[in-house]
Amino acid sequence: MKIARIEIYQVDLPVAGGVYRLSGGREYHTYDATIARVITDEGLEGWGESTPFGSTYIAAHAAGTRAGIAQLAPALIGHDPRHHDQLWELMCTALTGHRDARCALDVACWDISAKAAGQALCDHIGGRNAGSVPVISSIGSDTPEAMRAKVAAHRAEGFLGHSIKIGALEAEGGPALNAERIKECLADRQPGEWFLADANGGLSPEHALRMLSLLPDGLDVVLEAPCATWRETQSLRARCSVPILLDELVQSEADLIHAISQDLCDGVGLKTSKQGGVTPMIRQRIIAASAGLVMSVQDTVGSEIAFATILHIAQSTPRHLLRCALDTRAMTTARVACFDAPVKNGGATAPRAPGLGVSPNMEALGAPVAVYD
Ligand SMILES: [Mg+2]
Repeated sequence: MKIARIEIYQVDLPVAGGVYRLSGGREYHTYDATIARVITDEGLEGWGESTPFGSTYIAAHAAGTRAGIAQLAPALIGHDPRHHDQLWELMCTALTGHRDARCALDVACWDISAKAAGQALCDHIGGRNAGSVPVISSIGSDTPEAMRAKVAAHRAEGFLGHSIKIGALEAEGGPALNAERIKECLADRQPGEWFLADANGGLSPEHALRMLSLLPDGLDVVLEAPCATWRETQSLRARCSVPILLDELVQSEADLIHAISQDLCDGVGLKTSKQGGVTPMIRQRIIAASAGLVMSVQDTVGSEIAFATILHIAQSTPRHLLRCALDTRAMTTARVACFDAPVKNGGATAPRAPGLGVSPNMEALGAPVAVYD
């Protein structure tokens, strides 16, 4: 089997609720999605997605994703889509870095190889764990009262895990406002619930320490991505009383090994387009599991195709180390594909159809913006 043709599609995904806010005054109104369709000489095809979280989240942006794919796609034509490690090396040779560009192509090839094996992707990459995967809510920065209400709404839908965005600038309220957001969101905490306070790298160690000093003792919260740099994270870690989960800082396998070697975190957020596709997600979950890190399996954002990839990886991740998966579908209003995995009681289960189990909506995708053959 050989890769015969690669089609690239572009779709705008409007933000659910109109706007999403992160630390540092960052606002998002729409996400620019890149969808790859890889077609083989035997007629099998696979789908993959890479949707950066705007252009101010990590060093990735949508125009760069498609420019990167233009460098990568020609190198893959004529190769067996099931030889994932070889394809990964080919992409490393064709373009340094730019894991977001590799992602859509890598995922589409895994969709093909799972379909060729007649297996759902989760069974193809290690085996399905029993039960549904816990899905986490995503509560954008807002007033403490509004965030508490959003947690309550997700609780009513059965969610046990909540990701609350913090990181108010000093002029917006600083450490006091961030501490208030955390306290309000945890005020009605129910048994079995857990909370990530995600700063998306927006805090200095000084800010983080002042914020933590304003929280009551024994508050059960994990601090996610407090600082933007390794130096700041190391400094905070040595003086921090709550567990730390790293996200943006950990992109490559080398990043993860560095975090483990310096004991900088208790968990890691693995995101398909941030790490670069299914191939590096598998490598990094083995490394993380070997170090006893809990894993939050996510993507930066994305459509049903991104969520399908997340859910299959999460479904096959060791359950005792799986913190949660993120339902990217809830973050946007566009419907790009059918994917039969509803969230029920705060959890979702990967379907048993071969591959990712997605059926793209060709009308929503429109004409390809690039074709490689
Ligand atoms: Mg995060």
